[in-house]
Amino acid sequence: MIEIKLRPAPDAHSRPRRSRFGRRGELSGGSSDRRRLVLRDTDRGCECLNDFDCVIVGGGPAGLSFAAMLGRLGLSVAIVEQAEVATLAEPEPDGRDIALTHLSRAILERLDVWARFPDAEIAPIRRAEVKNGSSPYALTFDHPPQAHDALGFLVANHVIRRALYRSVLDLPNVQLLTSVKATALSLDAASARLETTAGSFETPLVVAADSRFSAVRRMAGIAAKMRDFGRVCIVSRISIERPHDEIATEWFDYDRTLAALPLNDHQLSVVLTIDSTGGATEMASSAEAFAAEVERRFAGRWGTMRLLGERHAYPLVAVYADRFVARRFALVGDAAVGMHPVTAHGYNFGLRGADALARGIEGALSLGLDIASPSLLERYDRDHRAATWPLYTATNALVSLYTDNQPLARIGRDALLRLGNVLGPVKSLMMGKLTEIEPSRRSA
Ligand SMILES: Cc1cc2nc3c(=O)[nH]c(=O)nc-3n(C[C@H](O)[C@H](O)[C@H](O)COP(=O)(O)OP(=O)(O)OC[C@H]3O[C@@H](n4cnc5c(N)ncnc54)[C@H](O)[C@@H]3O)c2cc1C
Repeated sequence: MIEIKLRPAPDAHSRPRRSRFGRRGELSGGSSDRRRLVLRDTDRGCECLNDFDCVIVGGGPAGLSFAAMLGRLGLSVAIVEQAEVATLAEPEPDGRDIALTHLSRAILERLDVWARFPDAEIAPIRRAEVKNGSSPYALTFDHPPQAHDALGFLVANHVIRRALYRSVLDLPNVQLLTSVKATALSLDAASARLETTAGSFETPLVVAADSRFSAVRRMAGIAAKMRDFGRVCIVSRISIERPHDEIATEWFDYDRTLAALPLNDHQLSVVLTIDSTGGATEMASSAEAFAAEVERRFAGRWGTMRLLGERHAYPLVAVYADRFVARRFALVGDAAVGMHPVTAHGYNFGLRGADALARGIEGALSLGLDIASPSLLERYDRDHRAATWPLYTATNALVSLYTDNQPLARIGRDALLRLGNVLGPVKSLMMGKLTEIEPSRRSA
């Protein structure tokens, strides 16, 4: 028996469904909660669950966002997620504070997700400073006068995931199958067939949002370029004495990179990027020693620092899929583009890509066309590649330059920051890419 979701009252969702939801397995109400539906897998192995318009593998931020988009178009959607339901319903803090762009905010507002973030959990970034080595010189970005008075907004990853889960829960035509793993895939012109630990699905479209190490991408025969930086990123929350003035600081020191992101309540989200050996040492040090080291590195700028909660370490591997689509198949989120976090764009790109694909599907629906036609999928591939490839390559090049300690590279690092400050159009271009504010709303 497989739990699929807590389902709201039938009239909670105003949009009409465009395709019938039904199945050959059995849906039944749970005993304690009227809204709990359970899929009884009576036909396991011999019947297909074939009434979904789209099956999404992965209930991470990208998969849930895409499901919310399709659900709002009235399509019947299944999300196959290997984790247990509690992991999605009440995700634990994972140390990640996600910098969301203006475009992401607009998309999340449309999906009724932004309004679910408690105000206290949204921290604006008004200024960003980028520093190099021991030089006091900084490349600075200030918030544009319009555009919510902020460069971007920090929201903790677990807060985003919880809000997405709840918004999906409100869509009766989106079914979440938790503790279910995708195991095999076959694609042809007529349909896509996904095998899972709960049985098989036959559907017009399978979308993989199963992380940068996507197994389903490989099942679809799509290769990806991976770049292992051999470094880890340690994220932690730290309380401070002096105000941060909503300034984010990215400091490329010679043996490590430190980012301090301004949160509410006199806190910083500190992101330390270091080689893997140094990372093990930093993870093993006491809370006091870790905070003291960060304080020393930032020259006491914010007074005494204190570590709050756990440190979390993430290996740094960037991934770019060779193709984002195949027959009746598409990649979204990190499965398509897994960014190095230094430019804070992984989820922002995930949202942008999901939105582009959903808009294509909306167009096809309005004309009564196939929602997974080759031309629609190819357009998504082309557009998302054009939107992501420049920043993906620039980010990797930036990381290479700023982790190279050769004398020439040190000079290049400093020169680049100064050039960035004085070349107005370059700075404006960088601002546009990083904040995703439409040019017309940016200051000159
Ligand atoms: C330290 C750090 C800081 C970051 N900061 C930012 C930031 O500031 N801004 C930003 O935009 N992004 C940021 N990111 C990136 C962002 O966190 C990711 O881009 C985002 O979480 C990716 O979401 P996803 O849904 O694509 O993948 P994931 O979150 O990896 O989710 C994949 C899901 O698929 C499920 N799954 C996998 N395989 C299967 C299977 N076979 N069957 C069923 N289910 C499966 C997994 O259980 C998981 O739930 C940061 C990342 C890190 C590490």
